[in-house]
Amino acid sequence: MRHDYRMSEMDLGGGAAPVLRGRFLYNEPMKKYVSWRAGGAAQRAYIPADLEDLGWLVRSVPAHEDIHLVGLGSNLLVRDGGVRGTVIMTSGALGELSLQGDGTVRAEAGVACAKIARFSVQQGLQGGEFLAGIPGTVGGALAMNAGCHGSETWQFVTAVETIDRAGERRIRPPQDFSVAYRKVAGPSGEWFVAGHFRFRPGQAGDGKGVIKQLLAKRGASQPTQLPNAGSVFKNPAGDFAARLVEASGLKGVSGLSNDLRELLAREGEDGRARLAVELFCYRVRKYVGAYLAVLEGADALLFAGGVGEHLPSIRSRICGPLAWCGLRLDATRNEAARGEAPCSIGAPGAPVQAFVIPSDEERIIAWDTARCLSGRPG
Ligand SMILES: Cc1cc2nc3c(=O)[nH]c(=O)nc-3n(C[C@H](O)[C@H](O)[C@H](O)COP(=O)(O)OP(=O)(O)OC[C@H]3O[C@@H](n4cnc5c(N)ncnc54)[C@H](O)[C@@H]3O)c2cc1C
Repeated sequence: MRHDYRMSEMDLGGGAAPVLRGRFLYNEPMKKYVSWRAGGAAQRAYIPADLEDLGWLVRSVPAHEDIHLVGLGSNLLVRDGGVRGTVIMTSGALGELSLQGDGTVRAEAGVACAKIARFSVQQGLQGGEFLAGIPGTVGGALAMNAGCHGSETWQFVTAVETIDRAGERRIRPPQDFSVAYRKVAGPSGEWFVAGHFRFRPGQAGDGKGVIKQLLAKRGASQPTQLPNAGSVFKNPAGDFAARLVEASGLKGVSGLSNDLRELLAREGEDGRARLAVELFCYRVRKYVGAYLAVLEGADALLFAGGVGEHLPSIRSRICGPLAWCGLRLDATRNEAARGEAPCSIGAPGAPVQAFVIPSDEERIIAWDTARCLSGRPG
């Protein structure tokens, strides 16, 4: 990849600009910085040394180049084609956090929300505990009006500090912004570099228990160590996304059970169970068909690892529409195979044969869980 400019070139362009003290990264994979752990590369990324350094950087980026600010990447989906322009990473960079003389907490854009929650509790302040549950930075929380457990970021904002492309910094009151549910609009061409928050006075350490509870609840329901999209739904006005998903009957596709045996038993009387079974068969068929096409055929298909080895009807629903690629089942042998012993279920002479290989599902699940927790690739 060709780099359009280097740090030294920028400095020349900036005339009297001092040497930038931050770090440039070129063609940097954004998947390292977003909770989805997916997406293309940033043409250029920059980790500023501090606010002043950030000012010099934004001033040096040519006007036609895009600038994007990224915090902890917990609300960002980066396209596979990557990001043009300069991506500025605030997390671990703009990290000053302090209690001001007027009792407000000032936090720079890269400070993790959880850190403010803990800091405010240590300072004997109450109300900021909810921030412990948001896996983002101050900049991201200000941009998104992040919130949970009945509280939202902007409820506590007394002022924000911003920077524009000319590197000019301003302190703005909340009145300069229109704030709604997960939506903040303000003066264009400015980014947040710090927030000032006023929490209620309380006793030092009071909120510790609340934070612990919040984190335990999150830990039980959200595997933040794993690639994670968080809650992709936005609550519509006057309602809750979770309630609507549940009401649609599509929660976990069926909302009934994850056990195919149970879904099969209920699909006659319940459309949601039928839909879930159909989707399951369709997905497996799609993958099998794609593999057969890419491999230009195969010797055999094995039903194992919890995918249909106990269920003749699932196997025939998966394989039936794949006869065109040479995969045909022997109806009698398929019906007899219940996953108790390895057996062949392919039709005699079929170019792609089929077998049932019973497997120890508990061991497979335990192995997968251990692999996920250790972060090892599959
Ligand atoms: C497991 C999980 C749980 C979540 N739970 C919640 C929740 O309970 N409540 C909730 O509200 N959200 C939740 N989220 C979403 C996310 O954590 C929040 O939106 C958070 O505020 C994003 O912060 P960030 O630093 O990661 O921002 P990023 O994802 O890095 O950025 C988000 C947006 O903000 C912009 N931005 C970032 N920094 C700045 C800045 N300094 N100035 C201007 N714009 C900036 C980015 O350009 C981008 O448009 C969750 C996400 C995950 C993955």
